[in-house]
Amino acid sequence: MSKTSARQSAIQAITTYNPESDGFNFRDVKPTELFGCNVFNDKVMRERLPKSVYRSLTKTIRYGEALDPAIADTVAAVMKDWAIEHGATHYTHIFYPLTGQTAEKHDSFLMPDGNGGVIAEFSGSMLIRGEADGSSFPSGGLRSTFEARGYTAWDVTSPAYLQENPNCIVLCIPTMFLSWTGVVLDKKTPMLRSGQALNREAKRLLELFDIKSDLPIVCFAGLEQEYFLIDNNYNFARQDLLIAGRTLFGARPAKGQEFSDQYFGVIPQRVLSFMMEVERELYKLGVPVRTRHNEVAPSQYEIAPIFEQANVAVDHNHMIMSTLRNVAKHHGLKCLLHEKPFSCINGSGKHLNYSVGSAELGSLFDPGDTPHANAKFLVFCCALIRAVHKYGGLLRATVASASNDHRLGANEAPPAIMSIFLGDELTQVLEAFRSGHLEQAESGKKSGIMDVGVDTLPPLPRDPGDRNRTSPIAFVGNRFEFRALGSSQSAADSVTALNAMMADSLGYAADWLEKELASGMSFNEAVQSFITHVMEEHSAVIFNGDGYSDIWHKEAERRGLPNLHNTPEALPVLQAPEVVELYERLGIMRAAEIRARTEIYLEQYCKTLRSESILTVRMARTSIFPAALGYQKMLAETCAAIKAMGREFRTTTFDAVTEGLRGLQDRVNELETLMASVEAEQELQKRADRYCNEVLPAMEAVRSVADELECLIPEDMWSLPTYQEMLFNK
Ligand code: ADP
Ligand code: MG
Repeated sequence: MSKTSARQSAIQAITTYNPESDGFNFRDVKPTELFGCNVFNDKVMRERLPKSVYRSLTKTIRYGEALDPAIADTVAAVMKDWAIEHGATHYTHIFYPLTGQTAEKHDSFLMPDGNGGVIAEFSGSMLIRGEADGSSFPSGGLRSTFEARGYTAWDVTSPAYLQENPNCIVLCIPTMFLSWTGVVLDKKTPMLRSGQALNREAKRLLELFDIKSDLPIVCFAGLEQEYFLIDNNYNFARQDLLIAGRTLFGARPAKGQEFSDQYFGVIPQRVLSFMMEVERELYKLGVPVRTRHNEVAPSQYEIAPIFEQANVAVDHNHMIMSTLRNVAKHHGLKCLLHEKPFSCINGSGKHLNYSVGSAELGSLFDPGDTPHANAKFLVFCCALIRAVHKYGGLLRATVASASNDHRLGANEAPPAIMSIFLGDELTQVLEAFRSGHLEQAESGKKSGIMDVGVDTLPPLPRDPGDRNRTSPIAFVGNRFEFRALGSSQSAADSVTALNAMMADSLGYAADWLEKELASGMSFNEAVQSFITHVMEEHSAVIFNGDGYSDIWHKEAERRGLPNLHNTPEALPVLQAPEVVELYERLGIMRAAEIRARTEIYLEQYCKTLRSESILTVRMARTSIFPAALGYQKMLAETCAAIKAMGREFRTTTFDAVTEGLRGLQDRVNELETLMASVEAEQELQKRADRYCNEVLPAMEAVRSVADELECLIPEDMWSLPTYQEMLFNK
């Protein structure tokens, strides 16, 4: 199919779109019955496992107790029977290597029975541990190829499920991924370990508040996923979308998002039909999707599930991303999860709503109704304030990627400076501690000053009211919303960092309170002393104003907050001594593992930019240059024909196209020379820096000439689908 016919096919697909039902309806199948029907969940386990095995397994799932290996065979047998009854033939250990993608290797249940036939087999050891050669996964030099074997280990806390395909069904078992020598090679293992550290320190602190909890203290995550949808024909007609997931060329359309006519607008029929199928598939997998709507940019949408325990929420987010990609194809659509598929309109993020608590205690970031609950809330808030002030750079580094660089700090997503929005009321209360004028926090009451203690604090605001969209970390009533995560990223690294930072600060708070109590202070005085201390030392990260403004950038610098503009600047923070110390002390990762990770991420950055610059050169030469040359020739022939009639004729368009051609050629050659020199750079960090500071601007320079040409060349001579078409034909 030629490129122009791909464009015509897209228009045809859109204009002749006829919504057809695939026969499924929610009259015959109750959504409540559909939900979780493909999950080996609590209900299935209770019904099918022997009582003692069920009890033992739920202890591991709910209370985090070590798994009893003696029950593995029974669980495996029951899981296999359940899967086979549902039509499964294969099983796979699902894991999350450092590429940030989902990885799976399928094995059949069938084994030869020795008599020429086969039997279905799945033992406890096959459930608990899988061997994934995985020598092609990046390991940052942690494994040499001769000992490349890695293994996957069952994560009991994330339920197994069935993946449907028209031709087969696969039992999927969420797992961790480690090297044979026990080195962490994935994103899940550190996250689970950080959860343990959080539980330990949170419980220590809560005990000082006389709160004992049987359930572990865990973190919850609600992940809002943004994405773009365009007609799939366009995707095939553009190498950049196909390979890089974003457009490297494209003139600004006559209309962008400035009318705000898209946000929460009526969802186009084909898109809605797609969304409903996505949700149906996710219901089956037990993913509690709830919200769907149009986002700000044209052809941009959002899907959000209800929050869950972070480990499960992160796995579910991976399942959401895969489902979005797969189901889009059924509707002739392409789902773009890239952070910035189109310049000049908003990019896509993945807001991470984060809270700490338990089913028993609820969110510990929820201000309570009693002064005692309020005191607990303020201490947890202060722990986060201290955490972000001390380790903001780490948090920033967890969202660093080539694609997310197009959002962070650009004028749309939160800036790259990690600050916290608390809202005026809450800030005022906390400021009152610092200034020693607690009466200011007691709206109206003028009675005491310092000695009034926490007992007389007024009820705290449950919601900061106005939503500040420019802050990377915002208090939203009972949780904090971390907005810097990119749409295509796994949330695991950010959750790990948040847990680790919180664990550190909660432990610090517990130490502080213990010390003050030992010195003879009352509990209220000790709490007051801790809050005052945090506000004195760490309130520099609180910022309620406009995060996009230049004033804030200057102010943040004055306050000493790091502003890590891009990935090569941000990633080295992962190896900062205080970060390594934090992760080692909490048992999350060792120095060598962190070093490997940093290297892998830097390498990924370089590879992404390398492939994008190759594409830029190639598309400029094979699509844009020929189109411009063709038009130039046409204009030249017209001029010559007129001249042959004895008249002088020149067009300014001819000059502009000629100028553009010359510019394009020069810029492309410059980019190519530069790339060769950057690729020859031996040192990884230096290579990454040069990609960022030299290659990216050189790519931008090629694009800028090409985009000007696009505005001159006749539509039918231009082979690439335009922004206008891709974003507005739906
Ligand atoms: P908004 O777009 O206004 O931020 P959404 O409804 O799109 O709100 O998303 C909010 C997300 O926050 C949902 O996933 C929701 O379940 C989640 N959430 C609500 N309460 C908590 C909590 N205590 N901890 C973590 N996430 C939460
Ligand atoms: Mg939202």
